[in-house]
Amino acid sequence: MKYFSTNRKSAHVSFREATLNGQPADQGLYFPEQIPTLSAEFWRNFLDKSKAQIAFEVIKPYIGNDLTDETLFKICAETVNFDFPLVRITENIGALELFHGATLAFKDVGARFMSRCLRYFSIDKSEKTIVIVATSGDTGGAVANGFFDVDGVEVVILYPQGKVSKVQELQLTTLGKNITALEVSGNFDDCQALAKTALADMELQKKVFLTSANSINVARWLPQQFYYFYAFQQWKENFAPIICVPSGNFGNICAGILASVSGLPCEKFIAATNANDVIPNFLQTGEMKIQQSVATLSNAMDVANPSNFVRILEIFEQDYLMVEKMEAVSVSDEITAQTMREVYTKYNYVLDPHGAVGFYALEKYLEGNPGKKGFFLETAHPVKFDSVEQIIGTYGEMPEAVKGLFAKPNQSIEIDANYEDLKEILVQKV
Ligand SMILES: *Cc1c(COP(=O)(O)O)cnc(C)c1O
Repeated sequence: MKYFSTNRKSAHVSFREATLNGQPADQGLYFPEQIPTLSAEFWRNFLDKSKAQIAFEVIKPYIGNDLTDETLFKICAETVNFDFPLVRITENIGALELFHGATLAFKDVGARFMSRCLRYFSIDKSEKTIVIVATSGDTGGAVANGFFDVDGVEVVILYPQGKVSKVQELQLTTLGKNITALEVSGNFDDCQALAKTALADMELQKKVFLTSANSINVARWLPQQFYYFYAFQQWKENFAPIICVPSGNFGNICAGILASVSGLPCEKFIAATNANDVIPNFLQTGEMKIQQSVATLSNAMDVANPSNFVRILEIFEQDYLMVEKMEAVSVSDEITAQTMREVYTKYNYVLDPHGAVGFYALEKYLEGNPGKKGFFLETAHPVKFDSVEQIIGTYGEMPEAVKGLFAKPNQSIEIDANYEDLKEILVQKV
């Protein structure tokens, strides 16, 4: 399989090159030349297949021969070594819980898959690999954890001081070993600017292989298809589900749409956004009006200009029926908080703010379309967001993975938002 750039200027590349490059030089996004169709053989024993087997069969056409079957299967098995339960909340609404992994968010799947591919692809590189990531919370933890203790790879994480939650900070800062957490006195944009400066530093690039583990990387995007299939294994109805995805950069929903083009049954995709409503507006008016991002309760979705949306447009161009299959709605913070309270009181289920956005959008859709059923993606565990306790008075049950974190020391290093400070640290790692 080859990948082209959505801007059509850069060369077509293999999966390996697309993973190592991250983004094509023309600033587009890599997209597969063909979207594979799953075979009758794939569906024959679908319900009996293991998670690793499904992952392997879904991703194999995208990898070609860049990894041996044996290596790819091992990577798949390690990527999905936790549960993905579809939990019923109401008669018509289920939650696909994606928070049972190492850092309690769906990003664990993409980060685990990518880190293992990168480890494999950099074995024959002579320079050291440094992965640099700017995070507003969830990404950093998932990437750090995915690369933890991986030989020959150093990870440097930049996070804004005072802007990530308690649990997110512990997940970033307590690992040690090959993971360096930098607490930047600035905001997320400062962190991102620092990472970009480092990635553009040609003097540094001569000494190390510097890469970004960005969410647009194909090795993070494509494996996000897996859990849509696990949900369908658990789907009990004889009609296709409505699938609602809380969306920020639109990578997660785009993976679902890709799975559906390959043959996964789905009646409709609903993209649920918070007040950052560029895409809902675009789908209604046909006009893309990029504004400043606004801060909301569901802060992992505070994205002004969703980078993965060009991939959805690419799918629409190839498969016009998909346009009819997608809707997008924006949900305010007030309604998000109200939904969290109501779902807790009525159904005794603790939603995190991102899941709450998804629950509400799905509930509204089903009210207008009686007789249908669906599920939303519960993208992270409530304990990761300090607002949950303020809104409903509890985080629900504390996962084991979190209890241990509080006993570990914070090993972060404070830096100012200037590149010289960062460079000094990077140079030491060479
Ligand atoms: C990253 C994230 C999202 C948004 O996912 P996209 O793929 O960027 O649309 C939603 N919820 C949580 C908890 C996240 O961490």
